[in-house]
Amino acid sequence: MLDLWIQNGKVFMDGCFTTANVGVRDGKVVVITDADETFDAKEVLDLQGQYLIPGAIDTHMHVRDPGHIERGNFYTETLAAAAGGVTTIMEHPISVPPQYNVEILENRIRRAEKQCVIDFCFYGAAGGEFPEEITKLARDGRIVAFKTFLHAAPNGREQEFKGLTMADDGQLVVGMQELAKTGLLCAFHAEDNDLIQYYIKKFKEEGRVSGRDHALSRPVITEVQSVERVLRFAKETGARVEIAHVSTPQAMELIKQAKQNGMDVYAETCPHYLFLNEDDLEKYGPFAKCNPPLRKQELVDQLWKYVNDGTVDYIGSDHSPFLYEEKARGLDDIFAAVSGFPGVDLRLPLMLNAVTEGKIKLEKVIELLCVNPAKVFQIFPKKGTIRVGADADFAVFNFDHTTIVDKKKNYSHAKDIAIPYDGKKMNCQISYTILRGRVLMKDGVVDESAKAYGQLVCPQK
Ligand SMILES: [Zn+2]
Repeated sequence: MLDLWIQNGKVFMDGCFTTANVGVRDGKVVVITDADETFDAKEVLDLQGQYLIPGAIDTHMHVRDPGHIERGNFYTETLAAAAGGVTTIMEHPISVPPQYNVEILENRIRRAEKQCVIDFCFYGAAGGEFPEEITKLARDGRIVAFKTFLHAAPNGREQEFKGLTMADDGQLVVGMQELAKTGLLCAFHAEDNDLIQYYIKKFKEEGRVSGRDHALSRPVITEVQSVERVLRFAKETGARVEIAHVSTPQAMELIKQAKQNGMDVYAETCPHYLFLNEDDLEKYGPFAKCNPPLRKQELVDQLWKYVNDGTVDYIGSDHSPFLYEEKARGLDDIFAAVSGFPGVDLRLPLMLNAVTEGKIKLEKVIELLCVNPAKVFQIFPKKGTIRVGADADFAVFNFDHTTIVDKKKNYSHAKDIAIPYDGKKMNCQISYTILRGRVLMKDGVVDESAKAYGQLVCPQK
């Protein structure tokens, strides 16, 4: 007797779709068959030709728990993830405090275990203040990667960035040497802070504080300069690096060349750099403010080239929940608002919608959102694949129904600021999210009783 029998799905296996049935027992896939045979199961889902893919894995998610639970917690933000076909998140530290040592990590894992609806991985914080903690965190074996920033903690956010920054070249070289010893990947937020501070000061003095001025204060060179620096230090030290949320084709070209030169470097981009542009920043102001900023449509068009040519390894949401007030204070002065916005629920729908617009192949979307994240962060083949023995994590979708994004239906605690995509029509529907054989979402309604069902996922050795 199986726990779950899923029949008549277009199942993603070995890079393509095959009509098949999938049987699940004890949270794992135990049988896949294309024959007409049926197995007895406690629960049967007939997909009637819908697509069945490995559950989506979000490589870039922020939860503010603990420290800023008024911005949402592990429960609310993973409910939002489940609504969008996501079965595993990778949490990036900007929490209070960031997990720069084993004790803090342990505390955050315990909190996540009590609340998460879906499975979760943690990044560790790597910083110049506590380089000795880098090896200890890696040896602990529970983080999938590290994350760091290339500037001192911003004023007023010292606690959120503690142990999470490599503020100068000295800290960068020491930090990278330590990272190289661990063999773990480190994600870099790559923006040149000196240049940005110069522009912001100048813009404020000139009274240029509109939405678009946020983008103009962080021009392309701020990303390019920083990516060049990270790549140079990575080459020198042998550290494995990821450039997080790449926003410009110019930076992508540098990463592409580094890859061609044999460097172990990875590129992430986010849906907002592919579906929004500088005009949206002018239109929505602080609600479209993120770092790096949205770019001109011309650059957005060029960025797609790197998504399709293999330079981009995975697409993360950079889901960043904040309070409405924290964003709204930027309505009159863009520089007064916090940066980042939610989007974990829309990453898969947006990319599927892009398939219907001819921007990308469906198989490529699955590779970028489901398969590659599992492979790069070493949670494959437990996650990221549909095969016998893997976790029974799935997203089910179709292109037969359209959906309209409605922020009121968003499960994120930060739904009030989920404005830029509100009202957008998507030519697709995510109809199920299934984690280890349990249906967590059906037709947009998430099973809110699944609190604490999520488990920690560690990299496999
Ligand atoms: Zn982020």
